[in-house]
Amino acid sequence: MSDNKQHKMESMIAQACHYIDEVTGGISPPLQLSTTYSRNQDHEYVGNYSYSRADNPSWEVLEKVCAELDGGAEAKCFASGMAAVCAFFETVNSGEHVVAPRIMYHGSQDWLRRIAEKRSIGLSLFDAGDIEDLRRTVQPGKTSVVWIETPINPTWEVIDIALAAEIAHQAGAILAVDSTVASPVTTRALEFGADIVFHSATKYLNGHSDVVAGILVTAKQDDRWEEIKLVRTLTGGVLGPFEAWLLLRGMRTLFLRFDKASQSALRLAQYFEGHQRLQRVLYPGLESHPGHEIAKRQMTQGFGGMLSLLVDGGADEARRITGKTRLFVRATSLGGVESLIEHRAAVEGPHSEVPQNLLRLSIGIENCQDLIDDLEQSLK
Ligand SMILES: *Cc1c(COP(=O)(O)O)cnc(C)c1O
Repeated sequence: MSDNKQHKMESMIAQACHYIDEVTGGISPPLQLSTTYSRNQDHEYVGNYSYSRADNPSWEVLEKVCAELDGGAEAKCFASGMAAVCAFFETVNSGEHVVAPRIMYHGSQDWLRRIAEKRSIGLSLFDAGDIEDLRRTVQPGKTSVVWIETPINPTWEVIDIALAAEIAHQAGAILAVDSTVASPVTTRALEFGADIVFHSATKYLNGHSDVVAGILVTAKQDDRWEEIKLVRTLTGGVLGPFEAWLLLRGMRTLFLRFDKASQSALRLAQYFEGHQRLQRVLYPGLESHPGHEIAKRQMTQGFGGMLSLLVDGGADEARRITGKTRLFVRATSLGGVESLIEHRAAVEGPHSEVPQNLLRLSIGIENCQDLIDDLEQSLK
């Protein structure tokens, strides 16, 4: 991505596509709470709207901004990230085959396992650290969807999107990318050949830990996309007007927040790498990280605000450390302005493949030295 394009994106999002309300001149869109829209005497709708599960003026600016951000043909918002994930997988038919990483966001994988079982959909998992394993796992002519996530929660392994797209397309499948952790600031997955990009907008896009929302962006408007839109209307996983409004407001500062979080996360990762109380620091911005070379190519504006620490010891030691933080908040989720810490295996439950000594950190926008000091005193 050229710097020029980056500048354009920053300007575009700060002004929400240069939004100006046609009626009032307001520079923030109005909040339309109506669920239904009236017809004139000829029984025709007065405006372009009928009923708020089907079409909703509150989504329009938001969806336009999201499509612009990822360079897609169209974007659609949903009631949560998982509502978007579910709508997407509704388009997979019985008998088809889906490929996904072995370690990935647990909610998406739980859903995939459930539909695979209930609807006779084939599901194969591949090792995210080995792209050749993806090549071996796809079944040409049978695999319809390759779903990847990069960087992957919570090891931050990086998958080469361009290569994954090539492998998926050669097998006759589409590539869908969960780009929640990278955000469109640093990775525009469609530009690397992905067909659909997904964001849990609950995370970086909103950024203030006060909205649950999901976004899908498509490279082109095809039959699958039409089906996704239909599924949203029929199953009703729609975003409320106020949430849409808040999300758009949060997104205006996306670049500022993401830049700050990226810079601090890199500094933290470098500071704590080799720390005597830690076995390892997992962060794609570190040269020691196995995905670093791909990350340098694919994460064009920083390596993001997510990192994990493998502490010296097991689950008890990991939990003891989280118990001592004073600034880091003990909570799940990511991408907000507040820095969070969690013992990930405990969050994912007994089936989790996440190491017991892994602490997941989401870096916010606090003073970086304060964050370093807090972790240092917690590790003691
Ligand atoms: C949070 C998250 C999701 C799910 O999104 P919700 O908004 O919580 O429904 C999916 N993928 C990743 C990587 C996430 O972090």
